[in-house]
Formats: sequence, C-alpha cells, structure tokens
Amino acid sequence: MLAEAARTLGLSTTQPPMLINSQPHDGRDACIECASCPGFACPSDSKNGTQNTVILKALASGRLHVSAETLVDRITTEEAGRVTGVALLWDQAGMRHAATVTADIVVVAAGAIETARLLLLSANASEPKGLGNNTDQVGRNLQGHTYPTAYGLFDRQVHGGKGPGVTIATTDFAHGLPGVIGGAMLADDFIMTPTAFWELALPPDMPRWGQAPHDFMRQHYRHVLAIKGPVHEIPNPACRVELDPAVTDKWGRPVARLSGVVHGETSRTAAVILGKAKAWLSAAGASRIWGYTPAPRLSSHQHQAGTCRMGTSPKNSVTDYHGRVWGHSNLYVADGSLHPTNGAFNPALTIMALAFRCADHLLNRLDHQPASETHI
Ligand SMILES: Cc1cc2nc3c(=O)[nH]c(=O)nc-3n(C[C@H](O)[C@H](O)[C@H](O)COP(=O)(O)OP(=O)(O)OC[C@H]3O[C@@H](n4cnc5c(N)ncnc54)[C@H](O)[C@@H]3O)c2cc1C
Ligand code: SF4
Repeated sequence: MLAEAARTLGLSTTQPPMLINSQPHDGRDACIECASCPGFACPSDSKNGTQNTVILKALASGRLHVSAETLVDRITTEEAGRVTGVALLWDQAGMRHAATVTADIVVVAAGAIETARLLLLSANASEPKGLGNNTDQVGRNLQGHTYPTAYGLFDRQVHGGKGPGVTIATTDFAHGLPGVIGGAMLADDFIMTPTAFWELALPPDMPRWGQAPHDFMRQHYRHVLAIKGPVHEIPNPACRVELDPAVTDKWGRPVARLSGVVHGETSRTAAVILGKAKAWLSAAGASRIWGYTPAPRLSSHQHQAGTCRMGTSPKNSVTDYHGRVWGHSNLYVADGSLHPTNGAFNPALTIMALAFRCADHLLNRLDHQPASETHI
C-alpha cells in the first residue's frame, strides 16, 4: 500500500536494512516476528548484536579477555603524556576493587557521552583539561536525531501486529531538499506495543483516560500507521558533554553534564520532513492524519554522536580519520563519538563500518609488530 502510494508521488522506495536474521544464520534462528523488537531481548536470538556475533568470534580466537561488570575509571598515562593502559574499578560482594591494566594501544568505545566523559576524567599534567582536549574539542558537537512522526488512520487493517514492523523506506528526502539543510530517510515505524501506542500514537485531541481511548485502541490499533524519519542534526559546538561540578556517581567520579539545544535549522528541516511523511500517508488513503516534530531540546538519548568527531585538524576535531586521538600515537576512539554529522539514517551501521575501518588500520599497524606482543 505504501509502495503504491510512493509510486503515485514519484518516490523511490527500498527495504531498510535491519541487522536481523531473516533466515537461520550462524547457529541462530530466523526472526519469528514477535512484536517486542525495540527495547526487549529477542526470543529467537535472531536480532544481531555484539554479544552474539563479533564478541563470540573474538573469544573463540583465544585472544580476547572480557572483564564484565567492570568500569574503566580512567585512561592512564606516563608523565610525558603517553597512554599506558586503563585503571579499572569493580564491585565484588559489596567490596570495591581496583586494578590497572597496561596496554600498548587503547581503543575507547564507551558511547558518545561516556567516551567524552572518560577522556575528560583522564586529564594529566600535560593535558589538564582532559586527554586529547588541549583544543577544547572533546565533548562538543553532541548530536542525535530529531524524529518528526506522522500517524495515519485507515478504514481497514494496515498491519498484523507483527514485528519488527519496519518494511519500507524512501531515501529521496535524505539530501537536497530545497530551502533546508540535510534531511531524513522516511520509513514505516517499528510495531508498537499497546502501551507504547497509548503513549505515542493516540490522536492528540483524545484524552488518555476514560472510555474513548479504550474504544479507539480496540477498533483502530491495527488501523494506524506511523511514518517517521531521523533528521540529521546540524552539529553545534555549544551542544556538549562536560563534567558535572557537583554530582558524582557511586564511585565519586563526576557524572556527565549535557547542555545545548538542537539548531534552529534542524527544527526547520524536521517540519519539512513531517510534511513529506503526512503526504505519503495521505496518498496511501489515510482518512485522518496527525503528527508532531519534537520540541527543540538536546536529542541525545538514543543516537548520541559527535563528541570526539574525526577530522583533519585538532583545531576542530578530536581524532584523525582513523579515529586516532590527536597528539597520541596509541589512543583511538571507535564509536558514535566519531561522527562529524549523524547522517539521515539511524547510526548503528555507520558506527560498525567505522569500527571495522579502525580495526583494519590497527591490523595494518600490527603488520609491522607481532600481534602477540601487542596488547589492545
Ligand atoms: C532504545 C534504542 C533504540 C535504538 N534503535 C536503533 C535502531 O533501530 N537503529 C540504529 O541504527 N540505532 C539504534 N539505536 C542507536 C544505537 O544503539 C547506538 O547508536 C549504538 O549502540 C551506539 O554505539 P556505540 O558503540 O557508540 O556505544 P554503545 O553501544 O552505547 O556502547 C558503549 C558501551 O560502553 C560501555 N561503557 C560506557 N562507559 C564505560 C566505562 N567507563 N567502562 C566500561 N564500559 C563502559 C557501555 O556499558 C556500553 O556497553 C537505538 C538506541 C536505543 C537506546
Ligand atoms: S521481531 Fe525482533 S525481537 Fe521479535 S523475533 Fe524478530 S528480531 Fe527478535
């Protein structure tokens, strides 16, 4: 139905990649189309993550040690500033334990907020504002995606309540929209659990109490389609991760403090994308359409990125194009922090591509040094 509507609008469509086994693969089952995909463990183990893919393979090589339930407290350095390893903290039977692990190369992949926090917490005499932060770039340009969402009510059933739910996308609005910067892929959304539907998808004029919303749910849960898109946010140095001057975690380490709001241009683009989503639902025959663009606040809760952006100069970036932190030959970042912009798509595949690219670079480096003698 959406494909046909896209054709009438002159839009090209594609099937979004999902990181899910569509058939049995690697000793794990195919997706059984349960309706609990986002936010819940997968009952058939068909949803792919590091826990059932790369970590298992690396463990099988015998060359990986995993320290679970262990916190990296800080990255250690010698007096001249060279990185020497990591300091660890963990709880065991209510007792605090600490250890230091030396390493020839340290790769930080703690996510865009915690990677920035860890570098800031690892200040030393030669970098008193944080490791790799002599030009005050660590933690800046924090960004996520702004998600305009449109809902359409149809007079017939438009989905069977099967997961994961995302079936069709158009990438025609990712770039080149007249008058605005950037854009977004548009796709039908993940299947919503009834409580998520109640929270997010009821029409805006419907109360969230009383008989009316119950009746609407009973009659229309399978008659409502959502179309949404991740609008790439304009990077803004004022959006940033810093160390909180007052609040600490249970270990006494300053927590991350986030500040900033999404750029005004991001909100303008989101409004245009919302219009495109509504037009697609209308062309598909929705009898009633509603939707929203998010309030212009920092949107860094799911797709956080950009806080250690890669670039060509330490003046406006934290790492080079291999993810190597400026000023350090043996310190790397390999996570969403590297994204100069987040692009018009959900970020995981880009994060993975960059991680593999960083790994290739390290392997090339190790060609000149036996891997068995190098600790990463
Ligand atoms: C609810 C939800 C739904 C999402 N859906 C999608 C989607 O459909 N498609 C998509 O592309 N993306 C999606 N994302 C985004 C995607 O999951 C993230 O962009 C991605 O996982 C980020 O990868 P990362 O390597 O940067 O960090 P993470 O995956 O966050 O990994 C960082 C790891 O470091 C650990 N860590 C942090 N600090 C320390 C420390 N000091 N010591 C030791 N360990 C530490 C953390 O525990 C964590 O395991 C979703 C995110 C959420 C929350
Ligand atoms: S819909 Fe998602 S959670 Fe459910 S079986 Fe498929 S991959 Fe797993």
